[in-house]
Formats: sequence, structure tokens, C-alpha cells
Amino acid sequence: MKINDIITESISFDVSTIDDKYIQSVGGRKEVDCDICDGKGENTYRNHPNQGGDTYTEPCGLCNGTGKLDRFVPDGPTLNLSNGNAFDLLRHLGLQDDEYTGHVAAKDLPALRRRLIKMLNSEKDQSAMTKDTTDTQGDMGATNTQGNVTSIGRQGARMVDMGRTPEQVKRYAKVMLDMVEYAMKGDHIISWG
Ligand SMILES: [Zn+2]
Repeated sequence: MKINDIITESISFDVSTIDDKYIQSVGGRKEVDCDICDGKGENTYRNHPNQGGDTYTEPCGLCNGTGKLDRFVPDGPTLNLSNGNAFDLLRHLGLQDDEYTGHVAAKDLPALRRRLIKMLNSEKDQSAMTKDTTDTQGDMGATNTQGNVTSIGRQGARMVDMGRTPEQVKRYAKVMLDMVEYAMKGDHIISWG
């Protein structure tokens, strides 16, 4: 998981194992390049122009200058989606759609595999998942009144939905299919959360 995924609301799909109590991602701890310094062990900063604007480097605080982090790395393919995209994909595939966590049992993977192959081979199927970019704002109106002065502007927050392109939808289906096939080989499951 990249730093960006931690600070945005998102759902990750991956290959997992299940027993009576726990669902666990399949993978292990590995040494990976630090996200912040890209494995360099140091970061370059620039002074404010008022203080000369020159650059300087300091050891990276996240990896303590080693450039490496010890982190869980999944063995199989993974897919990280925003909550909205994840819920829409789950719904589109006929899976549980209103929970932040869930899984597909090993016995149900062949059916999911067939569903994904159909999706990958049908533009019509994919287009049911695409979405145009929308940029909405509230209506014009009074936004603030102070004394006898009333401001006129857009009411409400601006909402930009980046939509989903056909390429994006196809990628979701492709990665999910890779994940399902990887899980089927190892008698694993697919889980998300
Ligand atoms: Zn670092």
C-alpha cells in the first residue's frame, strides 16, 4: 500500500486465505524501497526564497536514511479502488455491494472468473460501468448576509466526480481476473477491505 492509499478512502482487493477466524492476505514481509525518498535514503528540500531559496538534503525520517522499509507485500495481484469505484464494481459483478469488507469463497471463484471473462470480452458490459466526469455546483443565490450586505454566489460545495473511462473499467476487470486465477491455483479466496 502506498502512502496515497492510506490517506484517501479506499478499498483493496487481494488474494487471501481464510480459516474459522481470520482472513489474511497471501504474502510476506519484504524489504521495499521507501515511498518518501524512493529508496535514496535522503530527501531534498528548498529554502524559502526569502532565505536564499537554495536546496539542501536531509536523511529521510520515514526510513531513517536507509532507503528501505520492512513491509507486508502481497504475493498475488491487488486492486486498490476508491470506495465509490469499489462498490460499483462489486455491484456490477453481482457481489455484495454495501459492506466495506467481504470475500468470495474458493467455491465461488469459477463463477466469478466466468463473469469477468464475459466483462472483458463485452464492450457493452464494460460500458455499463463507465461514468462521465461531472462537475456540479449549487445554484446561484444568497450565500452570506452580514448587516445589510448580502453576498451572491454558488450555494454549496463544488463536487467533481472524475468518472470512469472504458480503459479504467477494462483494467479493473483484467486485474480482478488475474487475481481470481491466481487464487484458484493456490486454493485461496479473494477478499477486500
Ligand atoms: Zn525514506
